[in-house]
Amino acid sequence: MPKSIWLNGKLVPPAEATVSVFDHGLLYGDGVFEGIRVYSGKILKLRTHLERLYDGARRIELTIPHTIAQLDEAVRETVADNAIVDGYIRLCITRGVGYLGLNPYLCDNPGVFIIADTITLYPQEMYDNGMPIITAKTRRNDVRAVDPAIKSMNYLNNIRAKIEAVKADVPEALMLATDDTVAECTGDNIFIVSGGAVITPPLSQPVLPGITRGLVMELAQAAGIEVREEVFTLDDVYAADECFLTGTAAEVVPVTTVDGKAIGDGKPGAVTQRLNAAFRELVADAPED
Ligand code: PMP
Repeated sequence: MPKSIWLNGKLVPPAEATVSVFDHGLLYGDGVFEGIRVYSGKILKLRTHLERLYDGARRIELTIPHTIAQLDEAVRETVADNAIVDGYIRLCITRGVGYLGLNPYLCDNPGVFIIADTITLYPQEMYDNGMPIITAKTRRNDVRAVDPAIKSMNYLNNIRAKIEAVKADVPEALMLATDDTVAECTGDNIFIVSGGAVITPPLSQPVLPGITRGLVMELAQAAGIEVREEVFTLDDVYAADECFLTGTAAEVVPVTTVDGKAIGDGKPGAVTQRLNAAFRELVADAPED
């Protein structure tokens, strides 16, 4: 349990960090959030995470009652007070207290809280030998419904797919778009490697613009690997030479089977391993913006 939680402007003990049952974040999943990593005391891409948070808030007409600079400071204060050197930060903005009705304009004060704690990672074995995933029956939200580019507090779409993964005894599930093309996983972006090129769905697909996704694309380019943002299908995944996932918690994790079918030779591929190593090197001296 963390020592303190940042709640609406001050650090309080966890037992005092409570939100109202009338908060629309709870009543309707009305809010936005970020998950951020701390590596050796440095907060990876904090500025980029804050920008994504403000962008998502703007898209749902939620006014964050602090400036980016103030939240930047609040995050650092929370990390320092909890003496987190390697860990995870959860930054949440809720619509705030309203009443039993959807109208967000009746909520006057958005709620803000920040939790900084240590993190449980996927076991090392998964990075060495790869992860099995399945394709979920649950489709990723259509961009015209709840745009997955908004990291909203309403994760039921992903949770339905995660339930399918847990029932199939695998850690992640691939989610297709409503037109059958590949979108992303429940908490990670997906990449395939084909003919030496690294390919990921473009941001026009129903996906979160993952910050790890962006970093990995930059690392691949810097290593002279061709990077393409391209719409592809599940058959392209099955036929790929390699497949891997990226995410703040997962980092770069090889996928070796999809729906029980081996990808490539069924072992983590050379390009994936190279990018994983480059990512490890990057976070050893994590860039903060
Ligand atoms: N897609 C979804 C649905 C996510 O929740 C996340 C974050 N866990 C990602 C992709 C990866 O994004 P990031 O690299 O910014 O963590």
